[in-house]
Amino acid sequence: MNDKTASGSGPANPSAEALRIGVYICRCGGNISDVVDVERVAEVCRHLPGVVTANVHTFMCSDPGQKNISEDIRNEKLNRVVVASCSPFLHELTFRGAVQRGGLNPYLYEHANIREQCSWSHKHDPQGATAKAIRLIAAAVGKLRYAEPLDQIRLPNQRQALVVGGGVAGMKAAADLAGRGIPVLLVEQSERLGGQVNRWNRVFPTEQPAAELLGALRKQVEGHPRIEILLRSRVTKISGFIGNFQVTVEGQIGPAGRRTEVAVTVGALVMATGFLPYAPRDGEYAYHRHPAVLTTPEFLELLRHAPDAATLQFQGRPVRSIAFIHCVGSRQVDGVQEPQADGKINNYCSRVCCTTVLQQALAVRQRFPETEVFDLHQDIRTYGRGHEDYYIQASQAGVIFFRYHGDEIPTVAPRTDAPAGAPPLRLTFKDYLTWGEELTLDVDMLVLAVGMTAGTCQSLVEQLKLPCGEDRFLQEIHPKLRPVEISVNGVLLAGAVQGPMNIRETLAAAGAAAVKAAAILAKEQVELNPYVAQVDADLCEGTGQCVEQCEYDGALRLVQVTNGDGKARQRAEVNPGLCVGCGACVAVCPARAINLNGWRLDQYEAMVDGLVAEAPALAAATA
Ligand SMILES: Cc1cc2nc3c(=O)[nH]c(=O)nc-3n(C[C@H](O)[C@H](O)[C@H](O)COP(=O)(O)OP(=O)(O)OC[C@H]3O[C@@H](n4cnc5c(N)ncnc54)[C@H](O)[C@@H]3O)c2cc1C
Repeated sequence: MNDKTASGSGPANPSAEALRIGVYICRCGGNISDVVDVERVAEVCRHLPGVVTANVHTFMCSDPGQKNISEDIRNEKLNRVVVASCSPFLHELTFRGAVQRGGLNPYLYEHANIREQCSWSHKHDPQGATAKAIRLIAAAVGKLRYAEPLDQIRLPNQRQALVVGGGVAGMKAAADLAGRGIPVLLVEQSERLGGQVNRWNRVFPTEQPAAELLGALRKQVEGHPRIEILLRSRVTKISGFIGNFQVTVEGQIGPAGRRTEVAVTVGALVMATGFLPYAPRDGEYAYHRHPAVLTTPEFLELLRHAPDAATLQFQGRPVRSIAFIHCVGSRQVDGVQEPQADGKINNYCSRVCCTTVLQQALAVRQRFPETEVFDLHQDIRTYGRGHEDYYIQASQAGVIFFRYHGDEIPTVAPRTDAPAGAPPLRLTFKDYLTWGEELTLDVDMLVLAVGMTAGTCQSLVEQLKLPCGEDRFLQEIHPKLRPVEISVNGVLLAGAVQGPMNIRETLAAAGAAAVKAAAILAKEQVELNPYVAQVDADLCEGTGQCVEQCEYDGALRLVQVTNGDGKARQRAEVNPGLCVGCGACVAVCPARAINLNGWRLDQYEAMVDGLVAEAPALAAATA
């Protein structure tokens, strides 16, 4: 495996005189240059050792900006490049491309972030921001002195995808992947495809019957020659890395439920394990204390089977009045709601509940005209196209709205002394549509609009070390730039596993995940960044401390080797597919026998020297 790592056990650098470094400083259309004196930065940089040119450009990332770099590499014979601009998250790859187009190895490039780290964070201190920008560039220049050309790691790729979860997200991802010619294994833990949507009647905003929508999706996956579906199945073991995940699926086959085990190797994995509706605690808004307190999924079930009539019926009694409470299990406030089992509160918005309430409230008024409906909300967030219509129609249909504050939530009490036939539940709350007046409302039924909480993929999260956000949902790398990728290479996110989403958003995310997975699987080999650990075989004493320290199963191991004198000894070996380049092994090696390609210790030292240098040029710049 180690043979596939990037080249370079040690630097084969040009001498200081042979270094020809170009520094490119971006104005970022004023974002940087309104605070940082970029001309002065360029002037100082021209005096840094090895720098032969330092230029300022209004937008380095523009085509002319990039061309400037590529042409200078050729004309000025540059052999190292620094770009000082915005965050490397945004444009590191852009500039690596420009460097490569100039004919230079793309890893002989460093990025200095002088926007987020200088002009934006020190906007009231232009002199300080300018001095800091110079130091960050000096550090990058220092690091580049010890840089060596690196190659991407290339590993064999298994052209098959695993989709975990057979809700709308999983079905859409599987169908799109198969449509691109990729074999898919779709694993669903329950006995049928469709996920939570199986429980809904008509779905907003189209009012299409949920069964019809699911039928259309099922048709795309069931019987597809490239999709194998395993129901009542779960992934029990998973290991490996992008291009080569080894997966064990346990499932039940046949009505007798015979358990079976399937082992597969896949190149990419789509997580589509969805969400769980919030489960109110016993007693929360009198839930489980009175049978007429239901959650929205329970109420949908009731509506599904209720015959149309003047009033809705429940347990043999007419329901003449219903109240809905929004934000149950969402937008919780510290000190008001009890924390969840892990000590955290659900302070996020679940996004679908407001529209769900208005859709149900309207359905009640239309189907049971004599049933009164009350809506108790903090805010109404019907953010999707066409969703606001539900609010307008519900208002016109006679739904009565009240507004409470999140830190003064309504209280609910069963009315033990209510006369026979009287509403059994009493709500007390302050209404801020009527200037904070305290009101009581007696109703026959209360519906709690429960939010969406993170689903059931804990075992996969632990085995693959998938990062979760504060809200417990899986966390993408970047919400805008890499919205369906997670920090584990080869794993994509589809749908509500990532956070509250409606069906439209879920399908869009699942389609994007399928495209990303297909792009990975389109190649015969997967290409990875070369920033992985590298063991110096001569220095390694085989203490195994690095292996003990490594958190990534299989990334490091001890192997037996034979010395030139015929004696056997141990040494560490890196699996570049599993190494994430965290550097934990580097820190504990007593022999300093491990380094990270592209981030070696000598490069760190050079960066520190650059940061703290008392060079006259730097001092002059801060004067
Ligand atoms: C009350 C309510 C009403 C809603 N109504 C609407 C509506 O009208 N319109 C709308 O657009 N949106 C609506 N939504 C949102 C909608 O339900 C979601 O957008 C949708 O369900 C997300 O689909 P998904 O496939 O990501 O997740 P899910 O529907 O949760 O499906 C996930 C699937 O993965 C399976 N799974 C989980 N863990 C594993 C595992 N470890 N191994 C194998 N399989 C696993 C589950 O069994 C499930 O089948 C509503 C939400 C709520 C709470």
